[in-house]
Amino acid sequence: MRQIARHPFFLVCLSILPLLFLFSLACGEKTTEAEYYDTSFFAMDTYITLRLGQTDAEGQPLPKDLLQQASKEGEDTVYAIEKALSATDPAGEVYALNQNIDLMANPSETLLSAVATAFDLSEQTGGAFDPTLGALVRLWNVTGGGPVPPDDAIRETLVHTGLDKIKINGHTLVKSDAKTNLDLGGIGKGFAAQELLQNLMNAGIPYGLVSLGGNIGVFGEKPDGQTFKIGVRDPDAADSVVGYLYLTGGFVSVSGDYERYFEEEGKRYHHILDPVTGYPAESGLRSVACWSPNGACADALSTALFVMGVERGLAFYQNSTLSFEAVFLTDDGNMILTDGLVGTGLFEAASDTYRLLDTAEEPGR
Ligand code: ADP
Ligand code: MG
Repeated sequence: MRQIARHPFFLVCLSILPLLFLFSLACGEKTTEAEYYDTSFFAMDTYITLRLGQTDAEGQPLPKDLLQQASKEGEDTVYAIEKALSATDPAGEVYALNQNIDLMANPSETLLSAVATAFDLSEQTGGAFDPTLGALVRLWNVTGGGPVPPDDAIRETLVHTGLDKIKINGHTLVKSDAKTNLDLGGIGKGFAAQELLQNLMNAGIPYGLVSLGGNIGVFGEKPDGQTFKIGVRDPDAADSVVGYLYLTGGFVSVSGDYERYFEEEGKRYHHILDPVTGYPAESGLRSVACWSPNGACADALSTALFVMGVERGLAFYQNSTLSFEAVFLTDDGNMILTDGLVGTGLFEAASDTYRLLDTAEEPGR
């Protein structure tokens, strides 16, 4: 896994295959290839695809230069967001903030807005989503293949995490602990998906779809009148789905233990960290797919719900004012839905591997 995952060719294959699969589902039955103007590129550590509807409400083709221009602007938007939010690119703003500094004056509007959104969602999730885990993410080095860090190093790193260590002060980011590092990896792609969709709608694109890794956004009405059909993949089989979400709009983000991980002594260490223990979250889940009308929210919540697990996640769903729905897949083979997906036609189960629990059977009820 370690060596293969590092090889660019395999990375390309691993990223493209699930993507194509997802798209073939996302098109719906009657939609033809010709109705979309597609652009794909690599950014934010993943393959990104923009699918722009090519016909207007009367079925007339849109001008090619409008589609080209909107796609190009979308691509540029993603590069700008990547530059602002990257913790690994030395040219990135978060990389600069993560140096041993006390203050960053005049961060870009993009960074300020992403940090404000991330902090808000962190507070609302009681810290399950924590954008200040930068040093811990680096210590674990999951994408680089580990190894498992010593326990005392984990505890020492946790001392420097927490929302209280970084403040937004007007147009300045102030660190009260110079060692605190941001990592917006759990929200960046959803944040970018949100911006992209807004841009495409503003550019006059009537309907379409954007996909950034495990984050998908859809908008507008397709000419065939059908909803967008999004497959939720089986954690153990990239080519099969456990069910479908039927969407008229909004964003779906998936967080799973199969996305990025390494193995040591037969145990899997994945990339979603529990901010309390400092270890990969062991909440009894394989994955969470989260829908929300807001892209950053869908992304941050898929991560947060994964950390919370089913019981805390469902309690959070009941009490939160955030608008979202979720599909939980547990490591003992159950599929659990939030209320808005039960009996509403928004979700269709399609799996033998995961047993859809009756709402009465769901833990925490
Ligand atoms: P993806 O890798 O597809 O973006 P997620 O959206 O679930 O998956 O985000 C996981 C990433 O977020 C990790 O790779 C890490 O950079 C960061 N992260 C890990 N744990 C947390 C957490 N508890 N809160 C916020 N961000 C986290
Ligand atoms: Mg996420």
